[in-house]
Amino acid sequence: MVRYVYDFAEGGREMAGLLGGKGSNLAEMTRMGLPVPPGFVISTEACRAFLATGSEPDGMAEEVARHLAAVEESAGRTLGRADDPLLLSVRSGARFSMPGMMETILDVGLNDESVHGLARVSGSARFAWDSYRRLLQMFGATVMGAPAARFEEALDALKRARGARSDLDLDADDLAELADTYKDAVLRETGEAFPQSPAEQLRRAILAVFESWNGERARLYRRRERIPDDLGTAVTVQRMVFGNLGPDSGSGVAFTRDPATGRPGVYGDYLPDAQGEDVVSGIRNTVPLADLERLDPASYRRLLEIMETLERHYRDLCDIEFTIERGRLWMLQTRVGKRTAEAAFAIADALVEEGLIDRREALSRVSGEGLARLMFPRFDAERTPEPLARGVAASPGAAVGAVVFDSAEAARRAAAGEKVVLVRQETNPDDLPGMVAAQAILTSRGGKTSHAAVVARGMGKVCVCGAEELTVDTARRRATAPDGTVLDEGRVVSVDGSSGAVYLGEVPLVPSEVMRRLEAGEDGAAAGDGLVGAVTRALEQADAVRRLEVRANADTPEDAARARRFGARGIGLCRTEHMFLGERRHLVEEMILARTPEERDRALDALLPLQTDDFTRILEAMDGLPVTIRLLDPPLHEFLPDRVELAVRVATATARGERPGQRDTELLEAVDRMHEDNPMMGLRGVRLGLAVPGLVAMQVRAVASAVVARTRAGGDPRAEIMVPLVGDVEELRLVRAEVERVLAEVRAESGVPVDCPVGTMIELPRSALTAGPIAGEAAFFSFGTNDLTQTTWGFSRDDVESEFFPAYIDRGVFAVSPFETLDEEGVGRLVRIAVEEGRRARPGLQIGVCGEHGGDPASVHFFHSAGLDYVSCSPFRVPVARLEAGRAALGDETDAADGADGTDRADQADQADQARGADGADGGRRDSGDGGDRSDPSDRGGGGDPAAGR
Ligand code: ADP
Ligand code: MG
Ligand code: MG
Repeated sequence: MVRYVYDFAEGGREMAGLLGGKGSNLAEMTRMGLPVPPGFVISTEACRAFLATGSEPDGMAEEVARHLAAVEESAGRTLGRADDPLLLSVRSGARFSMPGMMETILDVGLNDESVHGLARVSGSARFAWDSYRRLLQMFGATVMGAPAARFEEALDALKRARGARSDLDLDADDLAELADTYKDAVLRETGEAFPQSPAEQLRRAILAVFESWNGERARLYRRRERIPDDLGTAVTVQRMVFGNLGPDSGSGVAFTRDPATGRPGVYGDYLPDAQGEDVVSGIRNTVPLADLERLDPASYRRLLEIMETLERHYRDLCDIEFTIERGRLWMLQTRVGKRTAEAAFAIADALVEEGLIDRREALSRVSGEGLARLMFPRFDAERTPEPLARGVAASPGAAVGAVVFDSAEAARRAAAGEKVVLVRQETNPDDLPGMVAAQAILTSRGGKTSHAAVVARGMGKVCVCGAEELTVDTARRRATAPDGTVLDEGRVVSVDGSSGAVYLGEVPLVPSEVMRRLEAGEDGAAAGDGLVGAVTRALEQADAVRRLEVRANADTPEDAARARRFGARGIGLCRTEHMFLGERRHLVEEMILARTPEERDRALDALLPLQTDDFTRILEAMDGLPVTIRLLDPPLHEFLPDRVELAVRVATATARGERPGQRDTELLEAVDRMHEDNPMMGLRGVRLGLAVPGLVAMQVRAVASAVVARTRAGGDPRAEIMVPLVGDVEELRLVRAEVERVLAEVRAESGVPVDCPVGTMIELPRSALTAGPIAGEAAFFSFGTNDLTQTTWGFSRDDVESEFFPAYIDRGVFAVSPFETLDEEGVGRLVRIAVEEGRRARPGLQIGVCGEHGGDPASVHFFHSAGLDYVSCSPFRVPVARLEAGRAALGDETDAADGADGTDRADQADQADQARGADGADGGRRDSGDGGDRSDPSDRGGGGDPAAGR
């Protein structure tokens, strides 16, 4: 027979799926012998049965009655007894913390009669009426659906009438009057009287919890968080203990360590003479937990003892709810607590030192997401004013600078030592010098994957994009905020890329020590104690266990050197297009405009030594490590001037009766000739190499000459040549023949045995689906997951992200943009096919990924499981990728060990729960059915969601 109800003494934390997070942890504390008021849990299975059939499952009522009888017996009083009633709390609690679930109902069991009984046995009429009015309010609003505001209004009105400052100033008679007002309100608002029968109160409260599983907010939250709709919630029914019995009673919340910094100590809030929900409702001011030492030293000592016991038992930071009833301490909830990124690293490291967990487990408790957050400077939370405008938080960190409205001005001011913020409607490749020079990039258009956002993240630059409230007028060099503030060029703003806020003036910054010292390449021993030490030790552990190699995407010697200090083992993507910009642009224009092969060769010959020098310096910075150089990828016309600008110049000249410049005319012709409706799907990548004679040869010659130069200098150059946008093996075969021809030439000319493996990007569905034949021609594969995502979904990234992705995410089509986290089902399937068929055709084929996904934590886990050899990401993401590659490798073993011992599974569940809790900030205490958000460390200025998990 199915069983629906479990006594606390029968459960434990490994039963979170059945008993919910709250119920299973209450059971765990009971099992540990801690003082938990007795109670029982109605399982999620009962909820599922109820939701399926619309009625209570058979036998549940009897089981509840049996378990209630046990609670009554241990309490020595019964539910509904008029002269000495047993009171209960009814609490919701699903497997994962979830906003939108039913609020807890306290004091179930009181009615017009037993309120007098309670007054007599407790010796406090005030307490009895206070409890009754609370029940009327909670039950009336939550179970019966009367508007909560009615109750608050009535309480406020009464306080005003009595001249009371707080609820404590109301006496028993006042509260009795309030109870009457509340009963009237319930009847008036719901057309039904408050049920006087305690059994009915209990039954209805239980069913209301079940029903709240399908509340609108709960459903929306689940869809966004990808929590299955069929888990159901458990219901915890527990004997009440009373914190509102006078000054020797009270309620509080506590953490076993500081959830903002991870430091040990006493953290929490206490409220004398109050029931639990008062602590977080803000109805009265709480006192710091440390004050309890003075108020009730015995309970305080006992509480600290219990906190230590819990931390040793859970081997982690716990958060706790407790109540003191006339000097007696009761535990009402615990769970592994949310924390900031900083605290996650500090706590994991400290627990290793204390011998509670090992380094592998410590690694599982931190995250790349958290590490990324620690690497950016931040604004001092206590000194931020009201924001001037808000946009999309596109690349995290905090920056201050004078606003400038074009790239050249940014570069000019920066060269003069000024800190600037580049403000544009949106950016394009021409803005690159300014973006490099600026502290931050601020745009009024575009989403998280706009050019500005992508480039900024790649450079580790702060970026807020799509700040639509700002009117940006680049011609007049000013931006206007919604409140009318005008930002003329030179005015100082502060940009918070972690929150999307823009502030007027300079907000003080707190620099990232982690970033500074990681970039210096310090090892664990050098880093010593403190946060940096904790981070470094976690990274070392990750390096020790990971299977994935980590490379960087870098196109300059400086980036290559920096990547190396961050721990990159090579370059997975060296783009060559930046090398075609700036002052070299006219050479590219000449190559495009060339009318004869000779003209073209002249242009290519002029480019050759410049490219050779670029490659030589990059190979030097990455000496001894692989450097994958990609042949030119973007459509050529991207290197030509803007068509509109040209057309205007030519037209103006003509209108003035002048002859337009010959070069302008030629350029305009070329731009028109090369115009493509859809350039990203046009003449680019390998197609360009096949269409423009000499282009591939020039680039390969530059690479080979760089290898020769480095070899002659005594170096160990390991250049690899990568062909972009291949769709068919024949394309690769043709280009490769050309590459081999040039390599052979250089070998013959130089006498140096130049050998560069030739591989291909896999970034079109067709190349993934024909990976077998392609592998026959390729020494390696590198997934270009940005293009692969665009072509698999048929999304044009720059167009779709800002247009309708927010709506897609809201409506649950996907939880995150597939450009941020790899879409495993679709794009990932192509990746797996290509890996499998590629390796079947060529065993030992080297496979990596060089799209932005290479630095995304969740995607790194996928690449690990798909069997890739390496991920490559921007230099600043290298530590994040190293950490996550290590965590991914841990996963292999945890999966294998799963089932051997329940504790591990429970730990994983807690981690998952924490990860979901990340969203808690929007939950708000009032919406929370399980745990609320008072524990959200972001309130404490720590900077955001918990680091553990995801
Ligand atoms: P939430 O998930 O919103 O925290 P809880 O179920 O934890 O909801 O309960 C809300 C408040 O009621 C908490 O402060 C809790 O400590 C208190 N509470 C719950 N059960 C009892 C009980 N049996 N006796 C006294 N207070 C309780
Ligand atoms: Mg590409
Ligand atoms: Mg709680």
